[in-house]
Order: sequence, then structure tokens, then C-alpha cells
Amino acid sequence: MMGAAYDIVDHSHDVLVVGAGGSGLRATLGVLEGGFSTACISKLFPTRSHTVAAQGGISASLGNMGEDHWSWHMYDTVKGADWLGDQDAIEYMVRAAVDSIVELEHYGMPFSRTEAGKIYQRPFGGMTTRFGKGPAAERTCAAADRTGHAMLHTLYQQCLKRKADFYIEYFVLDLLMDDSGRCCGVLAWNLADGSLHRFRARETILATGGYGRVYFSCTSAHSCTGDGGGMALRAGLPLQDPEFVQFHPTGIYGAGCLITEGARGEGGYLTNSTGERFMERYAPSAKDLASRDVVSRAMTLEIREGRGVCAKGKAKGDHILLHLEHLSPKVLHERLPGISETARIFADIDVTRQPIPVLPTCHYNMGGIPTLHSSDVVNPKGNDNDRIVEGLLAIGEAGCVSVHGANRLGSNSLLDLVVFGRAAAQTCVNRLQGGNGAAPNPSSTSEQQSLARFDAYRYAKGKYSTASLRDALQHLMQEDCSVFRTEKILAAGLQRIIKLWSQLPSISISDRTLIWNSDLMETLEFENLLLCATATLSCAHQRKESRGAHAREDFPKRDDDKWMQHSLIWLDKGEGKDKGKFSSRFATRPVHAKPLTAEPIPPQERVY
Ligand SMILES: Cc1cc2nc3c(=O)[nH]c(=O)nc-3n(C[C@H](O)[C@H](O)[C@H](O)COP(=O)(O)OP(=O)(O)OC[C@H]3O[C@@H](n4cnc5c(N)ncnc54)[C@H](O)[C@@H]3O)c2cc1C
Repeated sequence: MMGAAYDIVDHSHDVLVVGAGGSGLRATLGVLEGGFSTACISKLFPTRSHTVAAQGGISASLGNMGEDHWSWHMYDTVKGADWLGDQDAIEYMVRAAVDSIVELEHYGMPFSRTEAGKIYQRPFGGMTTRFGKGPAAERTCAAADRTGHAMLHTLYQQCLKRKADFYIEYFVLDLLMDDSGRCCGVLAWNLADGSLHRFRARETILATGGYGRVYFSCTSAHSCTGDGGGMALRAGLPLQDPEFVQFHPTGIYGAGCLITEGARGEGGYLTNSTGERFMERYAPSAKDLASRDVVSRAMTLEIREGRGVCAKGKAKGDHILLHLEHLSPKVLHERLPGISETARIFADIDVTRQPIPVLPTCHYNMGGIPTLHSSDVVNPKGNDNDRIVEGLLAIGEAGCVSVHGANRLGSNSLLDLVVFGRAAAQTCVNRLQGGNGAAPNPSSTSEQQSLARFDAYRYAKGKYSTASLRDALQHLMQEDCSVFRTEKILAAGLQRIIKLWSQLPSISISDRTLIWNSDLMETLEFENLLLCATATLSCAHQRKESRGAHAREDFPKRDDDKWMQHSLIWLDKGEGKDKGKFSSRFATRPVHAKPLTAEPIPPQERVY
């Protein structure tokens, strides 16, 4: 029974883009350039999307600062992904990289420059030359240490120039599907005036970003709550590879704010409590610029083995130091101004004099809604591993086209946003040009279920506040699903999450209004977090091997025979007598090991 009746405002467009981060804006721009009507819906003002916080840069084999080639970028990405990446998608991305950077430059993005006036490029973790045999590649294009800021503002201005239809501070609740499983649009709530909106479209692109906020310590914004993943799971679609969570080696100790890998790219290094540059032991050739999972594990081991640095007033060493004080003040000022400021504000450190206390911190979700390199969402069934969901695409951190596989290389995400944002727009434009007809109609049950859920939370009066349940979730993920994992710890985590599900029906919210009801919004976000966390923990429990960012102490080896496979998980939130429970279904999907045109890169041991 619903507590209230809701009037719904209708909209119809050719294409809907949900999300106005780097990927959503690039897609919006592409559809507009193709001449079709687009609505871009965002719960945040576009330039507040998490992309704005990206620091270090965006990769492309421009070769401005030394020799480079797309095939080397491809090799590094396949290896970085620990052979879980789809090689067709990876080839597509690295080959499109150079043109994408030139395009951003022409859109007006203010890159840092070399003396000769070319786009400045810095070394980044895992980026090498000559198929790992040459020196580190200088491949990451940067606008100082505010690359995401420069990119997001550039794309937003281009969208304004083309008069994009923005629906800003609209919270999308759910996908609207028809009985055949086609996506027909979304249902959204206008936070500012409380009205509800039905957006119908022939193609819907999810660009809702990651779900870093399932962890207690993370570098992502409070808005990164996996809403797209939640919507997909509720619509009966799977998530792929959610167990692969990237921990960034250098989150500021205590605050979690990011210190870009560019800091090590510019010559920064890590030490333990004895002052040793320990990365030389773990990764003799790449050292501090080994891939992120490798550095994060090394740091965790140093701390575990008693060589962590001790904070004032603490009995035990629990962090590592990042040194930049040997770099010239000119480099710090020109290349790393943002992190110098962040270190001052959040750690009270003057980087020209003191090292920064750092700790591995949740940074990126490699998993997400599975797609092909056309950005079409897939929902495998039977032997059809690439079965497309009509009318639905997913891009950016919300999607899993699987260019990052088991571990993303730094600066490959900003690249993936623009490359697959553009690909999604092209897919839509091609399809719209070929077809005709109006936006399809969703089934009434799909809409009613979404409204009922919204209404139930609005009037929820149980005994647990949303904040207390979210806090419990973030701690359990931090403790039971972090850098190192074992059967015992993961099983304990699953028990704790089952308990949280049982508490969900007794959630309580205190504000019943519809206008700027942040209590209700955070509750809807919490459900999405809970769904994404459950998928992550369940798949981490299923995957009995170590690969990339997923390190099982009880299965320390990579097992290509059994596990060179994507994980897929479908989740059902119980209703009626199953209220307060969830059920899940797990399956695997073959990795696309064959590139588009290049020779496949066969699995090898991954050492740096
Ligand atoms: C601190 C930090 C630094 C980083 N640095 C780099 C870097 O240097 N290089 C690199 O390659 N990568 C970097 N990354 C990773 C990269 O920035 C992100 O993966 C990427 O920006 C995500 O972009 P996106 O377009 O997928 O989503 P986001 O930028 O997160 O945007 C999501 C959008 O979806 C909207 N949205 C979400 N839910 C809803 C809803 N329910 N209803 C309506 N709208 C919704 C939001 O309003 C927002 O507009 C960094 C990440 C962090 C956290």
C-alpha cells in the first residue's frame, strides 16, 4: 500500500544520459553532435561530479616526451589488468587515445605544456615502453594535478555551447523496463521541488560513477554511491567483477584524501619506519611506480610486519611515509600545486619540508555493469555470453567494459570516460539513424515497483537510522573485504551483511517531505551501496584465486585454467515473506582474449 499518490511529469527524448561526470558529458556531447535530442540528468551540478577531483592525468601514447606506441600502451593495460581485461575493448581504447586527447585539446582543455609547447606527459605506475622491456613511459597527459577539473569544465562548456538539456539535481530512482526486458527510460525525483518525472527514451546511457563509499576510508566523493549498479541489479541485470576494488597506495592517513600517483611520477618515494625505500625489495625495476595493487600490498605487509610508521600518541606503527621534500619547490609549485594544498589542509604538512603520512585507501571500482566495447549493456543467458539489453548502455566507472580487468592502471580511467563516452554516443546515433519511431513504453509494474519503494522509504519509521546502518556497512567492508582476503574473513563479512539486510526493513527516516529531503536521498543511496557491497563481498568469496587487486591469502596464485573468467552476479531483494533477505546467483563469463586486429597478448606472470 502506498502512503501517497504521486503525479508524474512526462518527458520524451531520443537519448537519456544519467550522470554528468566525464563519461556522461562526453556522451551527451556526442549525441548532440549527431543531431539527436538528449537529456542529461544528474543528482549533482555537473561540475561537482567526482571526475572534478581527478588529479594525475589521462593516458595516451602521444610520445611528446619520449618514444611511445599504442601497442605498448595495450601491453601495459592487459598486463596491469592481470589478464582479466577484454583485449578487444583494450585495443579499441588505446588506439582511440591519441585522437581523444587531440579532441579534448581542440575543445579547449588547458593541458600543461613542455618547453616546446607540446602537451606535457608524466610517468605513471605500470606504464612502460617496449612491451615492459624499455624504460618507464611518459604517457600521462596532465593539467598540473587538476586534470579532471580541467576536463570536466571543458566538456561542460562544450555541452552548454550545444545547448544540452540538463536536468540538474534530479535523483534517478530506477530504470523503467518493458516486459521484454528492454530499457525504456528512467523514473527521477526532482530534489529541488519534490516532483517526480518519467523520462522515456529510445536509448538510455548510465554514467553514474563508482561506489567507493561502501568503504570507510576512500578517496571518492560522498556522492559515489553506486546508484547505477543498484538500478541495474533491481532491474534484474548483473554486475561484473565487483570483487576487484582498487586501493590507492597514497590516501592521506586518517582523512583518506588522495595524493596522486603523479607525486611518485615526479620523483616521490615511499619509506617505512626504518627509513628504508622498501619498494626496491618488492618491485626491483619499477620500484615506487609498480602497479597500484602491488604497491598497496607491499605497504600493507610492511605495516603488518611491524615496519609501519607510528603516529604521535599511538603504540603501533600504522602508516607509511611519502617523500616529496627532495623535489625542487618549482616542480612542486608547477606540477603538484593541488596536492601540496591538500597535504597542508588535511595532514598539516608542508611538503617542501616533511613527508606525508599515507595509507592504501579505496579508490576505484574495476567492476560494474557489463558492456561490450560498443558500450551496450549485456545480460548473459545460456550460451549467449554477449546478449545485449536493448535500449541500455553503460559507461565510465559505473560500467565494466573491462578495459581495467582485475586492476586499473592510473590515468586509464579518464581515458576510458572519453573513449567510451564517445563510443556510446556513436552507438546511439547509428541506431537512431537506422530506426524510426517514438520512445517505447515501460511496463506499469516496473514503474509501480519503483514508486512503492520510494514511498516505503519516505514513510519508514523503524529503529535504525540510515547513518548508523551505513556506518556499519562501511566498517564491515573495510575490515572484511579490503587489501588482503581469506575465506574466514569473507565468510564473517557475509554474515555481517546478511544481518544488515535483516535490519533494512526497520530503517527509519525522520523527514517526510519531498523538497530537498536529504534524509530520503541518503536512504535511497544506502540501498544502492548495500546492493553493490553485497555483490562485491559475494564475488570476492566466490573467486578462489589471487589476481590483480583481489588478493586471497588462502589462494595466493592466479589460476588461469579456472578463473580467467569474469564474475557475474544477479541479486534479488526479497519481498513479502522474504523481506529483509536477499538472494543471489553467480556465474562466469569468458574474457575476450582476442583483440580487434592486434595479436593476442598471452598470459604471463605479472612482475614489475
Ligand atoms: C580523488 C580521485 C582522483 C582520481 N584521479 C584520476 C586520474 O588522475 N586519472 C584517472 O584516469 N582517473 C582518476 N580517478 C578515477 C576517475 O576520476 C573516475 O573513475 C571517473 O572520474 C568517474 O567518472 P564517471 O563519469 O564515471 O562518474 P562521476 O564523475 O563520478 O560522475 C557520476 C555522475 O553521475 C551522477 N549520478 C550518480 N547517481 C545518480 C542518480 N541516482 N541520479 C542522477 N544522477 C546520478 C552524478 O550526479 C554525477 O554527475 C580518480 C578518482 C578519484 C576519486
